Amino acid sequence: MSNPSATKIITARTADVGGIPVARVLPTREQRMIGPWCFLDHAGPVEFSEHEQGLQVGPHPHTCLQTFTWMMAGEVMHRDSLGSEQIIRPQQVNLMTAGYGISHTESSLISQSKHLHAAQLWIALPADKANIAPRFDHYPELPVSHSDGVQITVLVGEFQGVEAPTLHYSPIVGAELLFQQSGSCTLTLNPAFEHGLFVLTGQCKANQHVCGENELGVWPVGTEQFTITAEAGCRVLLIGGEPFAQPVTLWWNFVGHDKAYLRQAQQQWHARNERFGSAAKQRALANAIPHAEAMDGPPVPW
Ligand code: MN
Repeated sequence: MSNPSATKIITARTADVGGIPVARVLPTREQRMIGPWCFLDHAGPVEFSEHEQGLQVGPHPHTCLQTFTWMMAGEVMHRDSLGSEQIIRPQQVNLMTAGYGISHTESSLISQSKHLHAAQLWIALPADKANIAPRFDHYPELPVSHSDGVQITVLVGEFQGVEAPTLHYSPIVGAELLFQQSGSCTLTLNPAFEHGLFVLTGQCKANQHVCGENELGVWPVGTEQFTITAEAGCRVLLIGGEPFAQPVTLWWNFVGHDKAYLRQAQQQWHARNERFGSAAKQRALANAIPHAEAMDGPPVPW
């Protein structure tokens, strides 16, 4: 079996989201996407003090993507301009398909839990799906299997013969590997996909490359397997997919396939256009977490 070397190991930078620091590893100049995955933020693990509010993300819009949230600790309330209200708890996925346009808020339920450990990723929609109707899906249970002391949860797509129910629009895979004991496991990959391994907790050695916490190893199309060695407690996120023919463009919270689409989205958000929910729904979102400011985004750059 051929196993091309990892082309790169990328270290996350720190960003602020809704009042808490997160490790952001996608996009970077050197790696804009892995398959359709175009954004990866890792929040926590953190325990909030008595006076902290946790994650409080005010109303903001999205287009042409799916926000994909994987929860490991804590509880977060999702609200959106469709009227969805959904608490996400550990081992669950929230998937918001923005399509043509949606706006939403996210807030820690600190009365329930002072902890937070989560990953939020964005999945770009292909050009012919850029304007589909927005929707929200919650997956309370994802398929779990065990192999060589590793607990594998399939989050989207098919992995090791197990398929997740998660809605997707292009060839993709996402899985979490949790080492319940120290050791090695060998996983079969789809060689048509490019892959990334992001370490959420601990460190691992994957195909001879060491990846530390908050580092992303990237493997090109043609990689047929991973042999991963780690200590007990190591938690790794595997993402992959068929490379996009043309990388999408990210501008603030918008994804798009051309600048005119992004410019219009920005102008319509500033104008509180109904593209991002009716006036009543947008007001309701703002009122739901009044202590978090709505985000206006940067000035239109073009
Ligand atoms: Mn968002």
